[in-house]
Amino acid sequence: MSQPDSLHGTLIQRGDARYEQARLDAVWNARKPDRYPDAILLAGSDDDVVAGVHWARENGLRVSVRSGGHSWVGNGVRDGGLLIDLSRLRDVKVDPAARRVRVRPAVPGPEIDRVVAEHGLYFPTGHAPTVGIGGFILGGGYGWNSRTFGPACLSIRAIDVVLPNGEFVHATDENHPDLLWAARGCGPGFFGVVTRLELEVYPRHQRILRTTQTYPMELHDEVIAFICELLPATPAAVEMSAKAGYTPSLGQQAVSITSTAFCTDETGYDLLAPLEKAPFRAHAIRASVNQETSMTELYELADALTLPGMRWALDGIWCDAPASEILTAAAPLVRTMPEDNSFIFWMMWGHYPERDNACWSVQAPVYLSPNAGWTDPAEDLAHERWVHQSLADMQQLSRGLQFSDNNVADRPDIGLSPANASRVEAIRAVYDPEGLMRTYMTPEESTTALARAAARR
Ligand SMILES: Cc1cc2nc3c(=O)[nH]c(=O)nc-3n(C[C@H](O)[C@H](O)[C@H](O)COP(=O)(O)OP(=O)(O)OC[C@H]3O[C@@H](n4cnc5c(N)ncnc54)[C@H](O)[C@@H]3O)c2cc1C
Repeated sequence: MSQPDSLHGTLIQRGDARYEQARLDAVWNARKPDRYPDAILLAGSDDDVVAGVHWARENGLRVSVRSGGHSWVGNGVRDGGLLIDLSRLRDVKVDPAARRVRVRPAVPGPEIDRVVAEHGLYFPTGHAPTVGIGGFILGGGYGWNSRTFGPACLSIRAIDVVLPNGEFVHATDENHPDLLWAARGCGPGFFGVVTRLELEVYPRHQRILRTTQTYPMELHDEVIAFICELLPATPAAVEMSAKAGYTPSLGQQAVSITSTAFCTDETGYDLLAPLEKAPFRAHAIRASVNQETSMTELYELADALTLPGMRWALDGIWCDAPASEILTAAAPLVRTMPEDNSFIFWMMWGHYPERDNACWSVQAPVYLSPNAGWTDPAEDLAHERWVHQSLADMQQLSRGLQFSDNNVADRPDIGLSPANASRVEAIRAVYDPEGLMRTYMTPEESTTALARAAARR
């Protein structure tokens, strides 16, 4: 297939010496998918994306997208078709008077934070510093201080998008309400290529305080039950989570509560005090109480959790059952946790009001997410089983998944309410009647060891 003159980006077709590197580079995870697009377009502009979509149509290719490349399963890398790689689109422009920031899809969170912070403004970017805003925000976007400002997708005010027919559109709630509704939460099911996002930004916190308490693993259930109990009275400005897993600095498994308070004069500065009243507080192996911190430090701490260069598998479920019930069901997951970089992440979310202008619709007070991290490909199946099968075994407690962590191929579950999922498909039928854009991955497309083992049965 020849490259048209209108295409100024780098088009790398299968067989080209640069192909394999471009394919591998499209996925941050060291566990790369065994899927091979026919071509990869490294787009450098909106025009490139338009030309790429036309080229794909003319050559009968379906289109997939990559922004920051942080999909755990490499969702953009599909068999056949054209992968439009937006990793070169990374600029950020803030309009402080309008309280808006305009970002390209591959921009990572700290870059947005740096630009808006200069104007005393804030946006709830993802926890890890390398995640691209594109996939993060379309999938909901649970970022720093999202309990206050909502999942990041609710802050989308406009998008520049190349539609499946090749048209470039500046879409707003006025001219394309259906498109904006779908962009706010439909994740990898979105049916256009977003080249720019216009986001609402908010007044910035005055100070960030942080408490961390680490306990022996034997106290796991007590610790989780305690923070579940604290959650209803915990102000939205406090982000509370727990990590259970091997802790290298201690040389043992441990459970750590981390609570981060985004303080303003309105919220007050004593938000973390209730944690100190934990009945098991005297058993802490170590603790750091109400320490002032910064966004830079928060990004660094998140970065250290899921190290680059390792093989990672993730999944997660929202739960609204009583803590005792969740912990009973999660006992096998906790008991069989691999003693390596793997861990269980508990996020205390609570609830954020849903909006009529967003398809984002699945949440529950507690989010439970096994994160498996390992290095030897021979251990893929064991780790993927621990992540996906253990959660499938407690499916009766799931109120749904986050698109950020699961791709529905390795453990089917709902990422949208059934009514909203149907409406997304109805809107897709209007914008993409020929099915040009790839949508949610199917078990048949998954190349995980788990999917292969299931296919052999
Ligand atoms: C280390 C790490 C930390 C993470 N931390 C968080 C976190 O704190 N909070 C959270 O919510 N999630 C988090 N995630 C999950 C992350 O948000 C999702 O994996 C998200 O999809 C990554 O976005 P991306 O643009 O980097 O991914 P990509 O792999 O580039 O994109 C994933 C998919 O999203 C869609 N997509 C992306 N960009 C576009 C676009 N411009 N137009 C149309 N469709 C698009 C496509 O279907 C694409 O295949 C984390 C992931 C990792 C690896």
